[in-house]
Amino acid sequence: MEHIGFNKPYLTGKETEYIHQAVLSGKISGDGSFTKRCHRFFEERFGFKKCLLTTSCTDALEMAALLIDIKPGDEVIMPSYTFVSTSNAFALRGAKIVFCDSRKDHPGMDEDLIEPLITPRTKAIVPVHYAGIACDMDKIMALAAKYSLYVIEDAAQGIDSYYTGADGVKKPLGSLGHMAAFSFHETKNIMSGEGGMIVLNDERFFDRAEIIREKGTNRSRFFRGEVDKYGWVDIGSSFLPSDIIAAFLYAQLENLDDIQQKRRKIWDAYYEGLKHLEDKGIFKLPFVPAYASNNAHMFYLVCNNLAHRDETIRLLKENDINAVFHYLSLHKSPYYTPKYDGGELSETDRYSDCLVRLPMYYELDPTRVIDVLCKPR
Ligand SMILES: *Cc1c(COP(=O)(O)O)cnc(C)c1O
Repeated sequence: MEHIGFNKPYLTGKETEYIHQAVLSGKISGDGSFTKRCHRFFEERFGFKKCLLTTSCTDALEMAALLIDIKPGDEVIMPSYTFVSTSNAFALRGAKIVFCDSRKDHPGMDEDLIEPLITPRTKAIVPVHYAGIACDMDKIMALAAKYSLYVIEDAAQGIDSYYTGADGVKKPLGSLGHMAAFSFHETKNIMSGEGGMIVLNDERFFDRAEIIREKGTNRSRFFRGEVDKYGWVDIGSSFLPSDIIAAFLYAQLENLDDIQQKRRKIWDAYYEGLKHLEDKGIFKLPFVPAYASNNAHMFYLVCNNLAHRDETIRLLKENDINAVFHYLSLHKSPYYTPKYDGGELSETDRYSDCLVRLPMYYELDPTRVIDVLCKPR
């Protein structure tokens, strides 16, 4: 029996060729020709106003926290059911993290629970598009406008996924908030091993984002010939990736449509093959709201309880299939529990206990996974 892992990074075939080209070009530090090609690709394909590759989504989020001047005492609202980087970026700047519960029908944050969490100290909302399924951004942007808050989309999983709001216009995730962070970690649809990107949708941040990303210097303007020397003009860090990473990423981007089509086919096969189990009340399958599209980043099942989840993982493991659970509630983490003063987040805890992710990668044939789950027990 062939082992089926949870993830297997897919190579399009051009990655090493482009890395070779980058090396031969003699410029392999940041912002070389492949980085520029990646920026152009994203700006043209998705209409993002300004894109800057970063070394990770974690770094893009940290840049976002710097850009909106998060200071000790500021409050930032986000789901508790997310990756630590979402909260770390703001905790690093001294913010108080205010955790919001998940939706009943989806692990994303419950948009209707955000408003009561807003205080005069709230500075930003960070919606996470879990599994690449959009949050209800109309609701979130309306709150942001009403209380003058920033919205930073954690679109780590959200590449090539869309949101259609009340205006009927289909907009890519990452284009909706003031800024957004994407990940190209090898577990994501499009990857470069480690990698990320910050998207800026508000022109007020363009200049400062370049400076923060280049160690607090105006080196980017210097290279464009806009200033005759560069120096230390702000705080910052080294957030830009080597052009070798960008070369790898560009090979993936050229195959975006093929990768997405293949992943959607696998996702649909899972859905069709497992739907009857949902109808019998055994599992819940992913829910995609009418305003969201599906980028097939993840296929998950929600079990009825923790024992049922453990049993499901064990059953798959016996058949040499690696299925994995996901986030542990951040408000109950060893780091944040002593600081947490909010209420119970029962939906977050339910997803922590009951959600299991099935193998999902380009080269997967999901037939055996489906068969194992459908075997009468
Ligand atoms: C993957 C992920 C991140 C972190 O991405 P890196 O590129 O590994 O830093 C952050 N948030 C979410 C929701 C993620 O899925």
